[in-house]
Amino acid sequence: MAVKNCARCGKMFSYMIGAPLCLSCKNQDEEEYKKVKEFLYDNPGATMPEVSEAVDVTVSKIKRFLKEGRLEIKENANFFLECERCSVPIKSGQYCENCSHILANEMKSAFNKGANKSTTDQQSDGRKVAKMRYLHRDK
Ligand SMILES: [Zn+2]
Ligand SMILES: [Zn+2]
Repeated sequence: MAVKNCARCGKMFSYMIGAPLCLSCKNQDEEEYKKVKEFLYDNPGATMPEVSEAVDVTVSKIKRFLKEGRLEIKENANFFLECERCSVPIKSGQYCENCSHILANEMKSAFNKGANKSTTDQQSDGRKVAKMRYLHRDK
């Protein structure tokens, strides 16, 4: 048995196994986890901020529970992660379906722009277009 400092509160404690947290911090974690889980059981459609407010557990902590796989997202629940672009609740990944489409398109056009820039100079491109129009009008 080793004595360690708790990673959260800094208190000395007898370390056994698992996370380097003292017993009271571990219990606190456990309590909060239980509260979140129970709230979700009753309110499967709640969003992360709603849960956070209702059970007084920070959003980042709820996210940690989620990342650690301790919380499960129910099939019909419309929480828990938020789209990093428009903040709508999503079930997995970083972006909602809508934003993934937009981002995919943006990526594509950015890629195309980059490709154009590297092959043709913007100015000469413009001149070419003007000349072509002029010739066309002449005909
Ligand atoms: Zn502690
Ligand atoms: Zn979005």
